[in-house]
Amino acid sequence: MRKIVLFLLCALFSTPVLSASLINDTETERVLMKLVLPLARAANIPDNRLKIHIVNDDDFNAFVMGGDDVYVYTGLLRQIKSPDALQAVVAHELGHTLGGHMAQMSERMNAEMKRTMLIQALGVGLMVAGGNPSLGAGVMAGATGVAQQSMLAFTRDEERIADNLGVDLMVSAKQNPHGFVTVLEQMHELTGTMESKINPNRINHPLTTERLNNVRARIADVAPDYKPNKSVEKSRHAEYELVRAKLVGYLDAPSRVRELYPSSDMSDSALYARAIANMRGGNLDGARIGTRTLIARNPDNPYFYELLGDIEYQFGHYDDSVDAYERALELAGDAPQIQTALALVLSERARPDDKLRAIEMAKRSLLSEPAPLTYWVLARAYGDSDSGRHDWAMAEYYNMTGDTKNVKKYAKRAQKKLKKSDSEYIKAGDLLK
Ligand SMILES: [Zn+2]
Repeated sequence: MRKIVLFLLCALFSTPVLSASLINDTETERVLMKLVLPLARAANIPDNRLKIHIVNDDDFNAFVMGGDDVYVYTGLLRQIKSPDALQAVVAHELGHTLGGHMAQMSERMNAEMKRTMLIQALGVGLMVAGGNPSLGAGVMAGATGVAQQSMLAFTRDEERIADNLGVDLMVSAKQNPHGFVTVLEQMHELTGTMESKINPNRINHPLTTERLNNVRARIADVAPDYKPNKSVEKSRHAEYELVRAKLVGYLDAPSRVRELYPSSDMSDSALYARAIANMRGGNLDGARIGTRTLIARNPDNPYFYELLGDIEYQFGHYDDSVDAYERALELAGDAPQIQTALALVLSERARPDDKLRAIEMAKRSLLSEPAPLTYWVLARAYGDSDSGRHDWAMAEYYNMTGDTKNVKKYAKRAQKKLKKSDSEYIKAGDLLK
């Protein structure tokens, strides 16, 4: 059984989450954004302030900080089977914000937490991290340890209020409030036997059964006739299933992937999870066959081309990899992780025009999302022929992975080689402050 107690107690961390890592993945971020955006709008959070963070941790958990930073755990995403139920978890967390239960969380702590979270990418990012010790050390370190932090839990009243405000939020956002019932039933299934041994008078937190009864009554009160839009539900369920399959494929053991997506299952999500697991396990032929089937079935899905690009890169087929990433970008628009992957392959293929294109791609990726892997790729694209800028990009990379010693070392080296008028000279100077 996974650690579901955290959401049950609706934990808040009393200390910054020092060693968690965040996952950057365009597909996952976009699907989550679609689900969270209507709730955030209903809660009067401006679109441009809303930010979704995907925490790489097995806990069944999610929380909101500062009112607009939504943290969703991969453990939660992998377990929760419907998009409505996931929305309910986020709506509950926003309910705590709206209810003013977050007074003890200071803005400073929020900023500190963002600073200390390490960022990693799925796909080609994981491969690079796995194959390169200097990158791996910074990017991959510390995926565990979140659960060991001490917690501040909310009171029983606060939990009930957050559920009620969450249901109201789902209704005013025209989303399916029955998602609350779905997620609480799932939690009850997982914790039922454990809870039956707890004396409700001895704890501060409401039991799942109590919460279930409460949300059922609330829904009957505020949305007695709610009927979901079947076609909307169907398409977003399909997208959500692909994201879950992707996370299982990347993060779970091969045996778990086979258990959840047995070879008899020929659905898109099963093919996706198995293709990714095959790629991770080095069965590149199997991975490619599965991915090509997905592309044949869904020629407009950019993320299947992204996966094909990852696989061809692993094969060492740079031309095919570049073609696949280019197609993915055509379909996805500005997608920073795919731009970074393309920059990586171009920098490795190293034909005459590749270097400039790789630098341009990495810079475009950094414009929408600064990430350590992208700085690392940028440094590589500059290479020996532009070692001042290479050193600056490495200093930025170390800055993002929290290696202060190397930040100083590389920023100083960059300044020695660059002209004072170079923008990278000035940026290196900022890192030395
Ligand atoms: Zn709560």
